[in-house]
Amino acid sequence: MTILAYGTPAGDQPLDRMEITRREVGAHDVRIEIIYCGICHSDLHQARGEWAGTLYPCVPGHEIVGRVAEVGAHVTSHKVGDLVGVGCIVDSCQHCAECADGLENFCDGMVGTYNGPSADAPGHTLGGYSQSVVVHDRYVLKITHPEDQLAAVAPLLCAGITTYSPLRHWGAGPGKKVGVVGIGGLGHMGLKLAHAMGAHVVAFTTSESKREDALKLGADEVVVSRNADEMAAHAKSFDFILNTVAAPHDLDAFLALLKRDGTMTLVGAPATPHPSPNAFNLIMKRRAIAGSMIGGIPETQEMLDFCAQHGITSDIEMIRPDEIEDAYARMLKGEVKYRFVMDIGQMAG
Ligand code: NAP
Ligand code: ZN
Repeated sequence: MTILAYGTPAGDQPLDRMEITRREVGAHDVRIEIIYCGICHSDLHQARGEWAGTLYPCVPGHEIVGRVAEVGAHVTSHKVGDLVGVGCIVDSCQHCAECADGLENFCDGMVGTYNGPSADAPGHTLGGYSQSVVVHDRYVLKITHPEDQLAAVAPLLCAGITTYSPLRHWGAGPGKKVGVVGIGGLGHMGLKLAHAMGAHVVAFTTSESKREDALKLGADEVVVSRNADEMAAHAKSFDFILNTVAAPHDLDAFLALLKRDGTMTLVGAPATPHPSPNAFNLIMKRRAIAGSMIGGIPETQEMLDFCAQHGITSDIEMIRPDEIEDAYARMLKGEVKYRFVMDIGQMAG
């Protein structure tokens, strides 16, 4: 099937409308008519070739929500008309220890929703800035939020799970002091989720203008991280810090805020490395730096259900597909409040 998409033929070219094809629905496949797709900073990194290995043409988008239009003969978990989501994963080997544990995100054969290996044309996966997608049913998530919240649910498929998974893994909850660094798409979800899990939440932002917002989003306290006195007031006090910043920066400033045995987990994936942290900042209090990548399919469903129960969605600004380059420019300035979502219904113009 030929459909419309927004993508780019090269890293130095703007995204523009193009035609792509989707495979016929196989026995285990679900075809989804995409209604909205969230805009992740990873889309920008990948489309512009900031990370090694972008395959062109590149059609980004891994925060997909839409309606099931067709199912294969062996699909029992989804039916035509259902509201569903697809996140960052559309396939995995399905037989390794990671897949058995529902941690497909760590499977060596994990196939990303875009830029992953594929038997379909053009030989790699193409993402959700497009009118439809065909996905194996194992990787299709159920959406239980009210339908009128659908656009604001889209960002949960990446920003939501990427913050939910480490918050759960490192035990955010009552009695824990949790920091969230960088209040963009991921960070604002981190504030909402850590708050709903019952932690004491501190937002770290470089943007004075986000101070008030962060309190509304779920922070108990806000620190403007450029202010050394505000930072010093939190020295040696955090159990866990989730760092979502998309650019290289001084990690030591945040490590010094962890208490004994505290962990700072990086989810931000800048194009160039952070300056190396000072080993003494780790040694002195047995602190750790860790990383985390999205989350597995069962945990993504758990996160969606948790959000539906707690009335959590993303704060979004809707854009037309032809506004994508402006959206990227504003994302780079840290101006998004707090996630752009593309209205796929306007793809045809
Ligand atoms: P985003 O919406 O652009 O937010 C990033 C935030 O980081 C900005 O809003 C800003 O917050 C802060 N920031 C940006 N540049 C900065 C700088 N030079 N110094 C200090 N702070 C800066 O991006 P996102 O979509 O949340 O993604 C964040 C990062 O996570 C990206 O690198 C993305 O590729 C990565 N990511 C990783 C995973 C994973 O699985 N690990 C999944 C999705 C995305 P303030 O204005 O509050 O300072
Ligand atoms: Zn993403």
